[in-house]
Amino acid sequence: MFNKSININFTMIINNEKIQNALNYKPTHSELEEILSKSKRLERLSMQEVSVLLNTYDDGGVKSILQTANWVKNEIYGNRLVIFAPLYISNLCNNDCTYCAFRCTNTNIERKALSQEEILKETEVLLKTGQKRVLLVAGESYPKEGIDYVLKAIDTVYAARDGKNNIRRLNVNLAPLEVEDFKKLKKHDIGTYQLFQETYHKETYAKLHLKGPKSNYDYRLTAIDRAFEAGLDDVGIGVLFGLYDHKYEVLALISHIEYLEEKFGMGPHTISVPRLEPATGSEIASTPPYPVSDEDFKKMIAILRLAVPYTGLILSTRETAEIRSEAFDLGISQISAGSKTNPGGYNDVDSMEQFSLGDHRSLDDVIYDVCLHGYIPSFCTSCYRSGRTGLDFMEYAKPGDIKKKCSPNALITFQEYLEDYASPKTKAIGEKTIAKGLADLPEKMKEFTIKSIQKIKSGERDIFC
Ligand code: SAM
Ligand code: SF4
Repeated sequence: MFNKSININFTMIINNEKIQNALNYKPTHSELEEILSKSKRLERLSMQEVSVLLNTYDDGGVKSILQTANWVKNEIYGNRLVIFAPLYISNLCNNDCTYCAFRCTNTNIERKALSQEEILKETEVLLKTGQKRVLLVAGESYPKEGIDYVLKAIDTVYAARDGKNNIRRLNVNLAPLEVEDFKKLKKHDIGTYQLFQETYHKETYAKLHLKGPKSNYDYRLTAIDRAFEAGLDDVGIGVLFGLYDHKYEVLALISHIEYLEEKFGMGPHTISVPRLEPATGSEIASTPPYPVSDEDFKKMIAILRLAVPYTGLILSTRETAEIRSEAFDLGISQISAGSKTNPGGYNDVDSMEQFSLGDHRSLDDVIYDVCLHGYIPSFCTSCYRSGRTGLDFMEYAKPGDIKKKCSPNALITFQEYLEDYASPKTKAIGEKTIAKGLADLPEKMKEFTIKSIQKIKSGERDIFC
């Protein structure tokens, strides 16, 4: 269990005995009330407390969990929703993940790694729709340049322009690397390094990952340690829900977070909650071994919101518009929109998508809907560009100071979107959203935000605090 070369005790990351005990715990009603009061003080919950929430099934109890999550979400994140789009640069892959269309044994798809020119074109299309934040995604095999291919791709994305606009934050979802290669990602200015363990349940993991480097569970589990060691202080973790019992996975996520906090003084910046979607060449993708019902999915999002109130929660276009709208109220803070999951997809290249999407709407349609639901779409990238990441971010976030930055920045970046890219219908609803957002701001913040919005209207771009 003890790996000398990277000096990690795996039971400290995922303590199965502790998780099993928590799973079997039978809570009492008074415990639930105490925990929800703790959540209202915006405190982190322990694994034991999370298990009480997961083991609460009565209608009244579940309703209280959802309502408290909504309250916490509003306290910390207000009504902002950060928007991004994935950018798939390659579907080459040496792994045989049984749930993914890009698995190496799927011979029915054409393999494609975009050239730098094609990556530039993809980014230009994304910019023209109004995106400012991109998540770069690739399978686990790069063209002959190796990791340099990815590094060049990052530079290409940052170099793309549409008038005065550019991609201001690029996050990556890439296979685990060695510390030296993580350092290279940092040098090339990535925002978040994102990696999903898929399932924390080791035996299940072994059954689902048949070939290639990804079949090494421990190497993947320790990737975040290596990223932190390389100086990347902004990481995202996640689980692919549907592969194993979702209650086990939630507790394992908490176990992983507790371990990172203990070792590095900080946990992940975000948690992603993808659910398994149908994928070509995969049987289990269409018939998940542990399907998560919509009701359990929403409850789980609410529980994560309560468990780690300051950690961003990301929901992708795997989910339908309906589920996404409901999830906003329960604690989701970031969503992808207008997404394609095939390399070249934004330029209509005919290549196979990684999995089917539940939400096919354009960015403009999603933005319209987000406004209709009373939320403010945000394209803000200020924290990362102002160095408010890792421990610095937490110093801002915990006393509630982050709102003083996020609220103005959301309104300013949304005004940029309305000026440059919105359809008339979205512009009309968006102006109302901004007016309401300004009215809700405290006086000093309002003054700064109104001035900044005026500057945006007269052509200035990229203003933030
Ligand atoms: N290849 C790298 C890896 O696997 O870590 C990074 C990119 S991979 C394309 C991104 C994520 O897609 C995986 O971590 C997995 O959770 C998700 N994924 C794969 N197949 C999926 C499916 N059928 N439905 C939903 N998500 C899926
Ligand atoms: Fe490759 Fe990632 Fe798909 Fe696995 S999930 S087959 S590693 S692209």
